[in-house]
Parts: sequence; C-alpha cells; structure tokens
Amino acid sequence: MIDHRRLGRELELFVSDPLAGAGLPIWLPAGAAARHAVEEYVRELERRAGYQHVYSPPLGKRELFERSGHLGYFADDMFPPMRLSADDEFVLRPALCPHHALVFGARGRSYRELPLRVAELGGMYRAERSGVLGGLSRVRAISLNDAHNFCALEQVGAEVAEILRLIREAHAALGVRPAGFRLSVRGPGQRYVGDDAQWARAEELLRDALAGVEYEVAPGDAAFYGPKIDVQIVDGRGRESTLATVQLDFDKPERFDLAYTDRDGARRRPVMVHRSLVGSMERLFAYLIEVHEGAFPAWYAPVQLAVLPVDAGQAGAAADLARRAEAAGLRVEIDAAGSLGARIRDAARRRIPYAAVVGAREAADGRVSLRLRDGRSLDPLPVADALALVGDVVASRTGQLLPG
Ligand SMILES: [Zn+2]
Repeated sequence: MIDHRRLGRELELFVSDPLAGAGLPIWLPAGAAARHAVEEYVRELERRAGYQHVYSPPLGKRELFERSGHLGYFADDMFPPMRLSADDEFVLRPALCPHHALVFGARGRSYRELPLRVAELGGMYRAERSGVLGGLSRVRAISLNDAHNFCALEQVGAEVAEILRLIREAHAALGVRPAGFRLSVRGPGQRYVGDDAQWARAEELLRDALAGVEYEVAPGDAAFYGPKIDVQIVDGRGRESTLATVQLDFDKPERFDLAYTDRDGARRRPVMVHRSLVGSMERLFAYLIEVHEGAFPAWYAPVQLAVLPVDAGQAGAAADLARRAEAAGLRVEIDAAGSLGARIRDAARRRIPYAAVVGAREAADGRVSLRLRDGRSLDPLPVADALALVGDVVASRTGQLLPG
C-alpha cells in the first residue's frame, strides 16, 4: 500500500503547513469534494435509519467536562482549559457525548421516543504529542462521524446489532475492508468509572451482539466509561487502528441525571450507546487514500468526469457536455490545454474515473468516447447514454467503473 501523505500531496487532497501547526491538516478542494460526498452519504444513511442530526459547538465550559468525567479521567488527552475571566473557563471538547447528553435532557422524554438517536459530524480536539502526528491518520483537530443512541436497557441488544449492520453497509459502499472486530474491555493500570456489575452487564450485551462474528478481546482498550466493540483497520505501514466503534455507557446518564418516563409512569435511566460508523473523516480518508491508491469509487471521486475536446473546434460541444453533466449532478472539469495524449494521461494520473473525448465526428453527431482511468475505452456513445452510464455507476455506489 502507498503512503497517504504522498498521494495526498500528489492529488492535492490535503496539505499540512507548519505555520498552521502539526496535526492540523487543511483539506484542499479535491479532498473536500470527496469528503463532502462521503459526509452526505453517511448523513443520508443515518437519516434513513432513524437518526436525528444536531449541531453543537466544539468548545464548552469547564464545568460541562467536569460533569461528564472527561476532566477527571481524560485530561491528559485534552488541550488545557482557556481562561476568559476568573470564573469563566472553556475547553476544546475531546468528545461530543456531553453535548448530546444535553440534547437528550433538553426536555422531558417518554419511552415512546426511545431509542433516541442523536447524530452529528462534529469537531473535537485531542492534545496528541507532536511525535505521533502524521498526515490525516493522527491529528489534533478531529471531525467525527458520531452518534449517541439513548435506549431502554432491553433495547440495547437490537440497537447494537442494527449499528453493526449499518457499519457493514457503510464500509461496503466506501470500500473499507476491516481487518477484524475487537471487544475492548477493562485492563490494569487505568482508571474507569462505574461498578463491576455495570461493566459485566455491558460486556455481556456486547458479547451477545457479536454472536456469530469472529473477534478478539483487547484488555485495557475500553473507554473509561464502558466496554466497546471496535472495528479495526490496518494502514499501509501495517499499523492497526480503530475506525468504527460501538460503546455502552451507564455512567453518563447518571452524571447528567438523564431520565425518561416509562409506560408505567416511572422515571427510568436510559443507556447511552456511543457509536461511530466510519470514525473521523481524517482517519477514514487516510485509510481510503491508501486502500484505493487514490482511485476512489466514482461516487466520491473529487472529479468524476474530465471533458477533453480534441481541438478548439469542439469547444462548444465540450462546454455543452460539461453543462449537461453538471446538471445531472456530476463533478466535471473541462481540460482543453495541451496534447490529447497528455490530457488523457493526466486525467488517469489524477484518478479521474471517466474522460469524455469529444472529436469532430463525435461533436457532429452528438456522441462522445468514454475512456476509463484503468485504460479501457468504450465505443462512441450518444451523450445522453454516456451520462446515464456514469450516473448509474455513481448512484449505485459501486467500486466498479461500468454498470454490473
Ligand atoms: Zn460519545
């Protein structure tokens, strides 16, 4: 596998500038276009699965993170608090859970609303030491695909199983090939909240959800508030990390005094399930760049179609084709400068899935020749058919370049 930092530079996906700071990469237009397509897809997948999306700020009062336990258990990984005045201190959040607990607590809740699934693609910060930072795989500013599903205890099993199903669906569409599943549990030498009975019950629920799945047990890798299922990936240098995760938490509902009114009128605590389908956008793209060697599936390729007029005589036909492709929702660019051979090679070098070559004959009879980035080329097609072919491949989110 190729190092994503090199390809990120060559394909102009992102840049790391020492003036901005280590671990604080900047997404360039091509990388941002691919990320945007992935974000839209994930948001829609979640929406159809009953998630409600919110926005919350990456900065919050010190007291919020004292309440959540992060300052007590997780301070070493956080940036130090910022003091605005003697009684006003703020921290960059290391997780979204505290804000989402406040979403649940924003009004009284009924058992009818459960599971309540609060989702956000939100910013958070980790004070990683500079030695471990690299490209997109380890960063200090993180954009996390996150959600917190508030359930009744008896709903947890089905909820975790459904999350695992969504993880598989998202990974198949993105071309993620997980290296394995892991059950991360408590280990020696670290601090954890909650009592043994809670931990045992949470672990049992996760083991049940993993029935039929092969997994490893990783002592010491649990979150400070509960055990978790981690979906592991391996990068180009053979290093393993966690992409997707499902975590059970009995502690935060206590700390934030969260409750719902049950069928019988009793006040009950929900269980909080923390989950991420695809992890952070940064780690996800570090992986996707490497596993696809920059040749993303057409649906999230930064540019999906390069329009190449053979010479100036086809400028009008090329502009018309580009307009129609754009109107069909495709990301398209016209490249008219230089020899045709050089432009075809450049489109392939940039991993653009399709190049539409428009010569005099094609322009005259409303046709176009499609060349695929893997070197294959198709006989001239009517423009509408060529656009329908590309549109079909994009809409089906396949990794192939031709409809199946
Ligand atoms: Zn969380």
